[in-house]
Amino acid sequence: MYQNSTAARYVSSSRANLLQKLSITTVKDLLWHIPFRYLDFTKLSTIAQANIGEEVSIYGEIYKLEHKKPRPKLDIVELTLVDETGTLLITFFKQPWLFEQFREGMKLVASGRLSFSYGFKRLNNPFFEIIDEFSQGENRVMMLPIHKSTEGISLAWIRRIISSALEDFSQLRDHIPAQIRVKRKLMSYQRALRAIHFPSSNDQIQKARERLAYDEILSLLLALKLRRSHVNDQVQAFSHTLEGSFSRALSAAMPFELTQDQREATSRILAEMHEPLPMSHMLLGDVGTGKTAVASLCFGPVADSLSQAAMMAPTSVLAEQYARKIGPILNEARISWALLTGASSQDERKRILAALKQGSLTVLFGTHALLEDDVEFRALSLVIIDEQHRFGVNQRSKLRNKNPGADLLLMSATPIPRTLALSVYGDISTSYLKTRPNPGAGVSTSILRSQDRGIAYDAIKNELKEGRQAYIICPLVGVKPSPDDASEIEDIAYNRKENPKAAAQEAEFLQKKVFTEYNVGLLTGKMRPAEKRAIMDDFNQKKIDVLVSTTVVEVGIDVPNASIMMIEDAHRFGLAQLHQLRGRIGRGDKAGHVYLMTRDVSEKALQRLSVLERYSDGFTLAEMDLSMRKEGELMGTRQSGDPALKVVDFVNDKHLINQAYQDAHAILSEDKNLVLPKHRGLRQHIIDEYGNVFIEVTG
Ligand code: ADP
Ligand code: MG
Repeated sequence: MYQNSTAARYVSSSRANLLQKLSITTVKDLLWHIPFRYLDFTKLSTIAQANIGEEVSIYGEIYKLEHKKPRPKLDIVELTLVDETGTLLITFFKQPWLFEQFREGMKLVASGRLSFSYGFKRLNNPFFEIIDEFSQGENRVMMLPIHKSTEGISLAWIRRIISSALEDFSQLRDHIPAQIRVKRKLMSYQRALRAIHFPSSNDQIQKARERLAYDEILSLLLALKLRRSHVNDQVQAFSHTLEGSFSRALSAAMPFELTQDQREATSRILAEMHEPLPMSHMLLGDVGTGKTAVASLCFGPVADSLSQAAMMAPTSVLAEQYARKIGPILNEARISWALLTGASSQDERKRILAALKQGSLTVLFGTHALLEDDVEFRALSLVIIDEQHRFGVNQRSKLRNKNPGADLLLMSATPIPRTLALSVYGDISTSYLKTRPNPGAGVSTSILRSQDRGIAYDAIKNELKEGRQAYIICPLVGVKPSPDDASEIEDIAYNRKENPKAAAQEAEFLQKKVFTEYNVGLLTGKMRPAEKRAIMDDFNQKKIDVLVSTTVVEVGIDVPNASIMMIEDAHRFGLAQLHQLRGRIGRGDKAGHVYLMTRDVSEKALQRLSVLERYSDGFTLAEMDLSMRKEGELMGTRQSGDPALKVVDFVNDKHLINQAYQDAHAILSEDKNLVLPKHRGLRQHIIDEYGNVFIEVTG
């Protein structure tokens, strides 16, 4: 069908390459390139009225235009904008090409967060639209869509090609059956797409969003259910033996008693592994609730059934931790295991792959390296994916499909609210660890302004004196600010001290200037796995006292002697992420303390962070986080690598999700393979989005 033909038919090949950077290759991608915000011209404010610290849109005339170059690598285009009430300075950093686009006397609307310095109201890197004819005529645009763009592509050009694509698309049928559209009061597909790109009111955007979000969820659910029912029909499901000598040996080897929650989850999961149906189970639990222990106990039945298990982690640090923590327990139970990561040597890899194929290896821990085609199992019966939200649907199914009949155990500490998990993941059963095995002394949290970091340094020194260890978390590696970090480019240029806390620089600074008598180490996501391992080992063995790190430590790291943490630029992190980070400390008998450093001291930012002072339960936090974040910023919920979900908002669209869940169920009860004429469009749409879920699923 032509909506799948390449978007290149609208554009030259060089432009097509640029579009590819935005992940747009088909016309459909183009149509689903949904604006991430709109300039609402009905809500313009004058310069005098506009409030500092708020998102504002201002219409004015360019009075003065300058191109400055205060240092070789810093290009600044500065506009002085005037309206009848005042003067506004607009600064664009590192976008020298913009200079050519402006002329003195031009009129434009600029939109962004208003700041104030050196006596002027300012907008840094705002969105803007040149509209000389703004106040003329009937058909002036009231809501201007802002699409994600990239260098070399103007917003106006994106709007133009989307508009032509919409023209062509106007012939297409709606893939959602009319019956459902009426029942759920949904806009037609065509109208929704038009309205989401070129709305005339907020109300229209809302209705369009609703239709598209429903559409995404319905399609996803149908695809998942179809794939699953098909798999269940086709595959050789596996029934694990529960009572066996390996299981007994493994239980005996566990170094601790399970908590009540762990016991319940384990017996539930084992029971499902025993069922002759492919299990899909999600084990949810906050950091430190002991999910890994539950996972380890699943290896007993695998060994007793003479089959194999794979356990995948999103980072090599975490995969290595399995080897360190679960490995010895497996050894004691005489269950063979190996670790495969990008760092494994060629020889080692060869040996592991041969043993896997031959069946002499029972448990394989690893990273994405497990997904490679040549990782072949003789009898894979259990797939465990830890921190599952870090993987995309395709990655998860790639591992699962090494044997579609294998049981699947997903684990996550990023709590998608539970009901949601149930519905979004279709038929996945869940269990939830609420209590911690070592509640520990807990963590207290304080918020500090960045300039008060001395307080945090002193507290860290006190802990170090007692033989404890510390984490200092920085959000960036190296100084590479994105365009919307304009304020920071400014800081670097003008004020060395306020430089963003780039981890590498920071570690050097701390070693030389702050923690001179201690060892400061550095861990970043960009290091090679072997390097990371060496650093983690050093921290474990206390050769490093202060570990400066990017968010690598967020996942799974467990060093009980670390008792204090400082998080730089905490305002840039999601609450759930901050919560995960602080879960690294306060695990032992010594209370942990976290300092959240913030450069954003607006009431909104402080209010958001203060939630962490008040709540300690990860699931509560995740919900609060979601409800406080703006639409389009829901990074936490958007599953990485699930490109199919662009519109849906897991918290605010709960009702849509429920409706789609019911409808998917009803559709499939009536027409299990979507062969009825009224479902033809839906069938094709699902194939376009998810591949052919109607035929056999293979690796
Ligand atoms: P999660 O993966 O949920 O973050 P882990 O499985 O890594 O949690 O467990 C956190 C810590 O608690 C680990 O040090 C682990 O050895 C320990 N632990 C897990 N279960 C128990 C238990 N039942 N009793 C005592 N310690 C436990
Ligand atoms: Mg874990």
